[in-house]
Amino acid sequence: MSHLVEIESLCKHYPLGRRLFHKSEVVRAVEDVSLTIPTGQNLGLVGESGCGKSTLGRTVLRLTEPTSGLIRIDGVDVTALRGRELTAFRRHAQMIFQDPYGSLNPRMTVRQTLTEPLRIHGLCPDLPSEQHRVEELVTQVGLPESSLDRYPHEFSGGQRQRIVIARALAVDPKLVVADEPVSALDVSIQAQIVNLLRDVQEKKRLTYLFISHDLKVVQHLCDHVAVMYLGRIVERATTEALFSQPLHPYTQALLAAIPRPPDAPSLLDEKTHAVQLSYRPRALLLGGDPPSLLSPPTGCAFHPRCRRYEESGRPAICRQERPPLVTISVGKPGTPPSQVACHLQKLGQPE
Ligand code: SF4
Repeated sequence: MSHLVEIESLCKHYPLGRRLFHKSEVVRAVEDVSLTIPTGQNLGLVGESGCGKSTLGRTVLRLTEPTSGLIRIDGVDVTALRGRELTAFRRHAQMIFQDPYGSLNPRMTVRQTLTEPLRIHGLCPDLPSEQHRVEELVTQVGLPESSLDRYPHEFSGGQRQRIVIARALAVDPKLVVADEPVSALDVSIQAQIVNLLRDVQEKKRLTYLFISHDLKVVQHLCDHVAVMYLGRIVERATTEALFSQPLHPYTQALLAAIPRPPDAPSLLDEKTHAVQLSYRPRALLLGGDPPSLLSPPTGCAFHPRCRRYEESGRPAICRQERPPLVTISVGKPGTPPSQVACHLQKLGQPE
């Protein structure tokens, strides 16, 4: 299986400068992240607000410079690109932002918005082909051709996100990083945009890095899921494995927090963590806020909130040593293995 995206030991730190009588402080927004995304597949990146998901997405596209590590897209080391090479790379990797209101220029018509990237990358040899291409793009995202000469303020939020998607598609990218693309939209519109993203992905064989805190959307759209906590990946699995057999206590808590109708079956069994019909859902819910990225807890950064740590008698290893990401086989033979960073999960495995 070829991988369009390969990330190795990626870090993004923000130094906060030095204050009198204090050591200089560093926000470790992304810390030692290694991930791959197979070509034509989708990776969902989930976690609470402020865990570093968006920083990771921006760093992969070089919208933010990495502090260290390697990012390879389609075999090209993008951390080494400069000037024209970097501009050319941007054609292959596009971003869809959360806020369709803020990511469109209010002074540009839809036609100008879509024409701009075509001209920057020299993709249409003449005006008729440019005209044909912008008409094709608006139709592809479900807007009428009459939209082309209108301005962003004349559209609803969902329509604006369609324009943003059309702009991303204009350059025929291979990779799209979508950062919470539906969270600013009405619930009634979210499904339409998610279905549009899915249709476009299947037709164009795009690869998505889909950043979201909404696990239901990720389940619908993604083949793989990576769970992030305080700048680090704590679990990585196929979507099926993650939703049927989540391994990390943090993942289990995120799944338990998915809103469901009061009479719906519970999502997780408390003991096996498999999808089951009965258990006390609140027992798995996350307590408290995530700690600061400036001073993460020692050992496993999740230990102050971890239910399994409490139930296991607060083992010292959880407070003292950071758990490495280890590979664990789950599910049927032939299923790609999961990765998890949890001492107790590792100790519980016969591997
Ligand atoms: Fe919880 Fe310990 Fe596992 Fe961290 S290493 S998730 S504290 S059980």
